Amino acid sequence: MENDKHTYQVLIIGGGPAGIATAITLHARGIRCCVVEGHQSPIRKSGEAIPPNAKPLLKQLGILSLIEDEKHEVYYGNKSCWGNDQLEQKEFLADRMGHGFLLDRLHFETQLQDLYKNTNNAFYKGYKLKKVVSDETKTLATIENTTETLTITSDFIIDATGRKASVCRHLGVQKEELDTQFAMTFNIKLSKAIPNEIIVEATENGWWYVAPFTENELTMMFFTLQTLLPSKENRENFLQSELRKTKHLLKIIQVKQIDTIKIMPAGTSYLQIPFGENWLAVGDAAYSYDPISSYGITSALASGFYGGHAVADFLNGKQEALHVYRYVVENAFRAYIQKLIAHYELEKRWKQSYYWTHRLSVLATETTS
Ligand SMILES: Cc1cc2nc3c(=O)[nH]c(=O)nc-3n(C[C@H](O)[C@H](O)[C@H](O)COP(=O)(O)OP(=O)(O)OC[C@H]3O[C@@H](n4cnc5c(N)ncnc54)[C@H](O)[C@@H]3O)c2cc1C
Repeated sequence: MENDKHTYQVLIIGGGPAGIATAITLHARGIRCCVVEGHQSPIRKSGEAIPPNAKPLLKQLGILSLIEDEKHEVYYGNKSCWGNDQLEQKEFLADRMGHGFLLDRLHFETQLQDLYKNTNNAFYKGYKLKKVVSDETKTLATIENTTETLTITSDFIIDATGRKASVCRHLGVQKEELDTQFAMTFNIKLSKAIPNEIIVEATENGWWYVAPFTENELTMMFFTLQTLLPSKENRENFLQSELRKTKHLLKIIQVKQIDTIKIMPAGTSYLQIPFGENWLAVGDAAYSYDPISSYGITSALASGFYGGHAVADFLNGKQEALHVYRYVVENAFRAYIQKLIAHYELEKRWKQSYYWTHRLSVLATETTS
C-alpha cells in the first residue's frame, strides 16, 4: 500500500486551520497522510481574533511561535456596543492567560501551510474534491485541478472543508442548521488611520463587525437573518441605513460608496455525529460557530488536534477513540450554545425586532430540544 504514489493512510480534504492542525498531528504520530486544498495559494478569510485561552493549544500544536510573528498583533479585546448605548472595551486583560492575538489571516494561513509542507510533502494544492466513494475498508477520492484528475486511495478520510462540509455531503451526511444568520460583507479604504481593533455594534436588525483587513483597508460585516436580507439592488441602501442607525460606528467610519457586497452564511450549524465508519469531520465542517463568539479558528485548531489523535489511535486499533472525540467536541459545542444564548440575552433594546426576538427563540428551542 505504501508504495502506491496516491495511496495514504489518511486523506485530509481542506488546507485551512482545521485541516493543517489535523495533518501536523497525524504526521507527528507517524501516520502517512496527505492534504488536498482547493486553492493554489492561501486566500484571505474572514476571522482574525484569537482569545488568550487558545495559547496552551497553540503551544501543544507547536504553532505559538508562528503567532508571535510580528505580522500578527497582540490584542487585548474588542470594542463593543451591545445591550446598552455605550461603546465598551471588552478586555481580555482579566484573563489569566494575558493577551490574545489579532491575526493577519492571510499570513497565518500561509504560515500553517508552509509548516506542514516543511514536514510532509504530500500536499495537493489547487485540487478540488469531486467525488468520494467509501466502503468498509477504504476510501476512493477523485480530485481534479485544471489539467488533471487523480484518484487517491486511503484507509480514512477527514472532512476539513469548512462550513460546507463537502466530504460529508458526498457521503450523504447533512449538517443541521440551527439558524439562518448571514453576513453581508464589504471592504472600504481608509482616508485616515483608525485604531487597529475589532468593533462590534448591535442595531435593530442585527449587528456590525468591523475589523482591519490590510494596513489601509477595513472589512465591514453586517450580520442579519435570511428573512431580513434585502434584494440585490437594495443591498447598499439597506447597509447605509443600518450604518446610520449606529451610535458609534457612524462617528468613526464614513462609508461613501460600497462597491462589492458579498453574502455568506454565518450562523451555527453542526453534524449530529462528527464521524462515521472511516471518516471524521473537524473545524467548521463539524461545528460552525456564530462569529460573535470568536470561537472558529481556535475550535478548528483544537478539533484538528483532538481529531488527529483520535484517528491515529483508531488506526492503531483503539475502536473507542472516535467516540471519545465526539464526546469532547460535542460537549464543547453545548457549552458554546449556552454562552451564545447568554450573550444574545444581554441585548434587550429592541423588543419588537424580528432579528432579536427570532434569534433568541431559535437558540432557546435548541437548549430545550
Ligand atoms: C464573517 C466571519 C467572521 C469570523 N470571525 C472570526 C473571529 O474573529 N475569530 C475566529 O476564531 N473565527 C472567526 N470566524 C470563523 C473562522 O474563520 C472559521 O471558523 C475557520 O476558518 C474554520 O477553519 P476550517 O479550517 O474549519 O475551515 P476553513 O478555514 O473554511 O478552511 C477550509 C478549507 O477547505 C478548502 N476546501 C473547501 N472545499 C474543498 C474541496 N471541495 N476540495 C478541496 N479543498 C476544499 C477551502 O479552500 C479552505 O481552505 C469568522 C467567520 C466568519 C464567516
